[in-house]
Amino acid sequence: MVRVRFAPSPTGALHIGGARTALYNYLFAKINNGSFILRLEDTDRSRSQADAAAGILDGLSWLGLAWDEGPDIGGNYGPYQQSLRLSVYRKVIDALLSAGQAYYCFCSPEKIQHEKEAAQAEKINYRYSGACKNLTEEERQCLLAQGLRPVVRLKVPDSGVVTVQDIIRGSVEFSNALSDDFIIVKSDGWPTYNLAVVTDDHHMKISHVIRAEEHLSNTPKQIHLYNALGWEPPQFAHVSMILSPDRGKLSKRHGATSVQEFREQGYLPQALLNYLVLLGWSSGENLDLLTVSDMLEKFSLERASASPAVYSLEKMDWLNGQYLNQLSDEALYTMLESEFIRRGWSPAYPPGYCGQVVALVRGRGKTLTQIIEAMAYFYDDFTAYDPEGAAKYFQGEGSHERLAVIKSLLENTSIFNAEELERVFRAQAQSMGIKAAALIHPARLAVSGRTATPGLFEVMELLGRERCIARAEKALAFAGGISGYN
Ligand code: GLU
Repeated sequence: MVRVRFAPSPTGALHIGGARTALYNYLFAKINNGSFILRLEDTDRSRSQADAAAGILDGLSWLGLAWDEGPDIGGNYGPYQQSLRLSVYRKVIDALLSAGQAYYCFCSPEKIQHEKEAAQAEKINYRYSGACKNLTEEERQCLLAQGLRPVVRLKVPDSGVVTVQDIIRGSVEFSNALSDDFIIVKSDGWPTYNLAVVTDDHHMKISHVIRAEEHLSNTPKQIHLYNALGWEPPQFAHVSMILSPDRGKLSKRHGATSVQEFREQGYLPQALLNYLVLLGWSSGENLDLLTVSDMLEKFSLERASASPAVYSLEKMDWLNGQYLNQLSDEALYTMLESEFIRRGWSPAYPPGYCGQVVALVRGRGKTLTQIIEAMAYFYDDFTAYDPEGAAKYFQGEGSHERLAVIKSLLENTSIFNAEELERVFRAQAQSMGIKAAALIHPARLAVSGRTATPGLFEVMELLGRERCIARAEKALAFAGGISGYN
């Protein structure tokens, strides 16, 4: 029975790396008729935040990565939040202590720090000295009586190797000589990550641990724990890290890096999932567009890459554009509706208007937010003109006269539709001996505030005569104010 888990620490947003790990686990579970489990790893009490946990659950739900067991829905192996499992860890710790596999260590953090610095100065690998390994019961009681709060360390063999069989990386060897008796319980009595994760993966019957590459170095420690406890380790797969486009550390300055940011910026969940699956995996068929059902057909951990993936916002934008193009006008409008309402746009206009605006403008953005931005002048009276456009079309010689001509065309056109508007604009330009563009550009700036819009005549038809005239008047006042006509 395949059972996999996504085990985020609720210390911040759901990053794309975490979301990708969740997706790979989800796909692996579904493909193998297994279960996908969500577990919150909140034993780092200083860093865990309740709202981060809620944000992670929310991000996963938005992506559609539904879990079969988890902190909110429960399951047979709960609770699914580590801070609620302290009694489970306590039993494991007691078993390790009484079997002599682990021991209390009273060395102070200062002493350890001192030893680390000494090792550093000698340029040798630091290993805990084992000073407390053979304390007698008497010595231990005496130190406890002094009020010292010990940690618990696991006894790790001095020699030999641990071999991690990784589905993505093959077999990776770790020498025990480089490891030491690592801490499994902190001095405040809370388990460390390694102890909690091994205990939970065992008790939750996890068959495959699919997680970020950064945890590969923890895996030998976890295998030592499995061995000490006489438990069978799960299979491991460590997914490659994600680098910035310049192959450094990915950070905020490279654009959106969390699911929440992508969502706020108007990316579609299916586009983000498509992007995530390709970060470190390919179908081998030169396929870029993959729906979740394609992924379920094609995904395998064996085809996941061991080398780092490189983040590319351009690719994400391209994918999002592809998914946006596939939506019908109605479906797209439905996605935009809440933003329309938030901006107070919907109710003020007749039925059909919003749909027509969406149809006209949709090609002008790669994200929902860009599309919304591209349609703002259909709803709001803008307060500023594109500055370069204003310098070019409202300030030059004759611009005021041209705006006056535009205004009168708008007033006098018999039928106010795109076809007729185009006809009269072109005829007027011809009669003035100027290019049609000399009227079209200032008219566009006047009615939209922008230098780039969908076809001007369609835009004007949709805006309607009244609004176009009012905006032409504003432009006239603006141009007059600058060139001294009014
Ligand atoms: N809680 C760990 C993290 O958020 C994941 C641990 C694991 O998957 O083993 O990085």
